[in-house]
Amino acid sequence: MKTVKAQFGFRGGIHPQYHKDLTADLPIERLPLPRTLAVSMSQHLGAPAKCLVKKGDAVAKGQLIGERNGFISAPVHAPAAGTVTAVEPRQGPTGGWADAVVIETAEDPSGAPVLMPPLDWKTASREELLARVNDAGICGMGGAGFPSAVKLAPPPDKHCEYLILNGAECEPYLTGDCRTMIERADRIRLGVEIMRKILAGPAVRIAVEANKLASIAALEKAFADIEGNVEIVVLPTLYPQGSEKHQIYACTKRLVPPGALPISVGCVVENVGTVAALADAVENGVPLTERVTTVSGDGVARPCNVLAPVGTSYADLVAFAGGEKDGVRKVISGGPMMGFNVPSLQIATTKTTSGLLLFTAASVFQYSSSPCINCGSCVRACPMQLNPAYISRAVEANDIAMAEGFGVMNCLECGACSFSCPAYRDVTQFCRRAKASIRAKAAAKAAKK
Ligand code: SF4
Ligand code: SF4
Repeated sequence: MKTVKAQFGFRGGIHPQYHKDLTADLPIERLPLPRTLAVSMSQHLGAPAKCLVKKGDAVAKGQLIGERNGFISAPVHAPAAGTVTAVEPRQGPTGGWADAVVIETAEDPSGAPVLMPPLDWKTASREELLARVNDAGICGMGGAGFPSAVKLAPPPDKHCEYLILNGAECEPYLTGDCRTMIERADRIRLGVEIMRKILAGPAVRIAVEANKLASIAALEKAFADIEGNVEIVVLPTLYPQGSEKHQIYACTKRLVPPGALPISVGCVVENVGTVAALADAVENGVPLTERVTTVSGDGVARPCNVLAPVGTSYADLVAFAGGEKDGVRKVISGGPMMGFNVPSLQIATTKTTSGLLLFTAASVFQYSSSPCINCGSCVRACPMQLNPAYISRAVEANDIAMAEGFGVMNCLECGACSFSCPAYRDVTQFCRRAKASIRAKAAAKAAKK
């Protein structure tokens, strides 16, 4: 194993203020079990899980409460013992609605948690390990929530040559992955060994931004004697370095074609937290029911990294972090660049909730946008070499076809263009609107067939 500097960079990108110092040195704390959890059936990319419980049912910790419901889907498990008090639609962190199982947790849970039998990864077959990844409900914890059982089973005509671990965590404020790499490096190593076996021995690249020296040191120690082609790749600190496509390029110099998946260029990318969760699922039989979330911003009394069951309300996270302070003006689920404004602290965490940020008026910039002045800042910032100014003007003119012609479907929604715009145009939002419109049109067309 060796540590190398990334040799292949990308054009564009920005340097926002990172504010990671608020929580980067703080160990992960476990949240005391909340009284109520609202566990969404839609915590992953793809079809929501099919709910298996109803109001009044008693559930055990780890019990399957939602089954995989399609090729791209993942099961959901109860994060704690308790009684189901409702199965009802709830709004999720990204604004969408889905059925959620509301569990009144037991003060003194009787009965053992439902665990799957531990597997010895060295003697288990690849099929057994892959089945475990599915059964444990493992999905990408970096944000997208792509079910790992699908990702780790490439089609027969594709072979994974590189397994890339995403430890970039380039969004400002977020430090959950940084702490996971420091505190759970041994679990990440075990997860890598298991994934290498499932994927038939690809080379491994662990991509970490240069501003995470303690994480790099912890990984170097944990991976020191690992055999095979394994490298820690130190990436320049540049947003959006955590983008899957940019990591693949930085580690392999391979370009993922527009609309294609990483496996099209022989790569599989997994978040470091996902890999650690996979190790727990195989070695200890523990399904994915909890995750680390960074609670930060100047509107929270005690910024921290919290390990909490999925389904925890944002209100419970904020209370654990000492409560609000100085008048909160804005709440963001996720990071400030790609996250979503949330209307209420009653929204609950999912397997993909990396951050909860509270900001006061002092941090929330009030602006009104003005027409584009053709300065080109957004073009220089765009890591996908798009022309965000042209796209935004096409969308303003309601010409979605023109926006599509300008390549809007390649937009990462990273926010670098909006960040750079001196006219305060929310260029990213125009891109999102165009993409949603194009997707809706395609879905309607497919439904007619
Ligand atoms: S949001 Fe899209 S258009 Fe804007 S900089 Fe990012 S990739 Fe480019
Ligand atoms: S940064 Fe703003 S003002 Fe400048 S070209 Fe882009 S959209 Fe226009």
